Order: sequence, then structure tokens, then C-alpha cells
Amino acid sequence: MSDINFQNFLPELIEIRHRLHQMPEIGLSEFKTSDFIAAQLEKWGFEITRGLGKTGIVASLRAGNSNRAIGFRADFDALPMQEETNLPYASQHPGAMHACGHDGHTSMLLGAAWALSQDKSLSGTVHFIFQPAEENFGGGKLMIEDGLFERFPCDQVFALHNWPGIPTGTFTTRAGPIAASIDVVTVTVKGKGGHGAQPELTVDPVVVGSSIVMALQTLVSRNISPHQPAVVTVGAFLSGSASNIIPDTAALEISMRAMSPMVREEIRERVEQIATFQAKSYGADISFDWHVGYPATINDRQAVEAAKSMIVQRFGEDAFVDLDLPLMGSEDFSFLLEKVPGAYVLIGNGDSAGLHTTTYDFNDEILGRGALYFYYLAKDRLA
Ligand SMILES: [Zn+2]
Ligand SMILES: [Zn+2]
Repeated sequence: MSDINFQNFLPELIEIRHRLHQMPEIGLSEFKTSDFIAAQLEKWGFEITRGLGKTGIVASLRAGNSNRAIGFRADFDALPMQEETNLPYASQHPGAMHACGHDGHTSMLLGAAWALSQDKSLSGTVHFIFQPAEENFGGGKLMIEDGLFERFPCDQVFALHNWPGIPTGTFTTRAGPIAASIDVVTVTVKGKGGHGAQPELTVDPVVVGSSIVMALQTLVSRNISPHQPAVVTVGAFLSGSASNIIPDTAALEISMRAMSPMVREEIRERVEQIATFQAKSYGADISFDWHVGYPATINDRQAVEAAKSMIVQRFGEDAFVDLDLPLMGSEDFSFLLEKVPGAYVLIGNGDSAGLHTTTYDFNDEILGRGALYFYYLAKDRLA
């Protein structure tokens, strides 16, 4: 493949991105999206496997006789929000929007798949991993549970996420933790309701819940080392209906973030202990409903070095900047990185609206560079 061929292919890739943008689907219901991706890959002659993590797809390209293998992952789910961009290719699905740029990630990886399918110089295997349900449902975990790496063994895995606020097309990442773990729990306090004028006959869950909220404020400051980043947020406190009624229950929605598995475990344990013993001291009952959590995303040092040196060599010194601090957000590529060493890299989306906002759009100017990122990584790793 020459660079000229790729330039000629770019308009088709932009068209692919716009088609994906028009058909956003929420995690684990990405049926049209999955069909569309599969049809593109089959058109280009790929051998594909479907159904990992329900709607996930793996396309494999084998060449030469080396048994080295590399995995590239792109996510393709959208978010439950109403798009307000007024773009000609805006979402045609009311209440769903590609507000995290996963349409762009999938298009970049499709671009790389097309480019590598034109290339005869590789020796080894490339697995293109198209993953559903990155947002909240842990699609990466589901693909692993369906045997992703047993069926498609990889020596290294790489993923790319666009990032608003970083200059257009500039890459950045860091070795070690790059994104936080996230855990979410709903804590339900069960007291005993009654008349607002007769508190002595009740167990007031509003007071118990408030006490839990305040007690949790010492968890990060008194139990976790100041050298370790951690956040505990009580994002919702749901209870009661009127000023003169003491309710039966209160529910707290709590999110917890950390950068290390040890701190993550410590926080989970302490939240349970603190809430349980606070409730006990008031004579209230308590229950915990834990939701799917994502581990911290931890980059392998060698994979980061390989990506960085490729970027500098192929795109120039200015194309890479070191990322000083990890992101406090979370990413389910972390599940893949728990199994196989690799790197999660950000590519600048320029001065665009932020991720998860109704006016956000993936920047088409970075589609080509993002596709070539995967293309050159494969060329370098499987030379
Ligand atoms: Zn997102
Ligand atoms: Zn995302």
C-alpha cells in the first residue's frame, strides 16, 4: 500500500464514520452497528468471528509464517442522550448519540484493517477487536468471558481514544496507570417510618444516611495514603416525600475511583464497613447492591515505548507528548490489559465540545492519522 492509496481511500472512510454516527446504539443492543462493521470487513475479504460479548466482532489477518500476534481494539457503542449538533449526518435514533466518539474509533480501526489488507509485507497475525458496550456494561469483560484471548491469542493489545482539548492529531499516553478503576454501589438503609411528630417511635433512615455520608468523608483522607489518588462520591441520596413523614428507607448511590488494585479493594471494604456500622449504631438495617466495576487501566511500559517511538518516527517529534497525570475517568479496555500487556493511547480531537456532551462530534481530520497509527504499529511489530 502506498500513502497515495490511503489518501484515495479517506473519503470512503469519512463516509463510513458518518454512517456509523447516524445509527448510534446503546451498549449490548448494537445490532445494526455490528452488521454494518461485519459487512465492511467481509467486503474487504476478512475472515470474521461474531457474537463475542453478544454483538462483538473479531476480524483476523494472517500473513507469513511468524507466530507473533497483535490485537487492536475499538469500541462501537453509543450513549443514551439526545444529539444537538445539527450535523447533516446527526443521529437518526432519538435518545441515542455517539457522544464519546466510538464511531470514530471504529472507523479508524476499519481504516487500518483496509490498509493492512492491501499490504503483503506482514509476517504474523493481526486481530481487529470490535467491542460493544464500553460505557457502563463492561463489553470488554464480556468478550474475554467468551474466550477472546483463548480463541485469538495476542502478544500485545492497543486501543486509541480521541480526546477533546488535546491538539488535533497529537498523541499522548503514559506508562503505568492511565485511567482509574470505578465501582458503583447502591446502599439501601432500612429504618422504620412514622409521623414526623413522633420520632421516638421510628428509626429515621434520613439521619442514618446522612451519618453514612459524613463518615465516608474520612475514608480517603484517613485510610488511603496521600500518595495514592482516590475519590469516593455520594452522587445521589434518595429518601422521603414530605416534611412531616419519616420515611422507611433511604438509598445512597456511591461511586469509587482508584488507580491501584490494592486501594480499590481497600475502598470497597471500608465503604461496606463504615455504612454497616453506622447503620447498626442507629438500629437500622442495610443492604448493598454492587454494579459492574472496571479495574484501573494500566499500560505496559514496553508497549508504551513501542507506540511512542513509532509515532515519533512516522509522524514527527511534535506528534507525541507525555501525559503527566492519569485520567480519573474509567475505561473497560482495562479488562483486556489485565490479560495481555498493551497500551491505551489518546489522540487529540482538537478544540471540540467535550466527551459526553450533546454538541460533541468526532473530528474527521484525525481519522486518517488514527488509522495509520494502527497500520504502522502492525508494520513495526510484525515486520
Ligand atoms: Zn465515554
Ligand atoms: Zn469512550
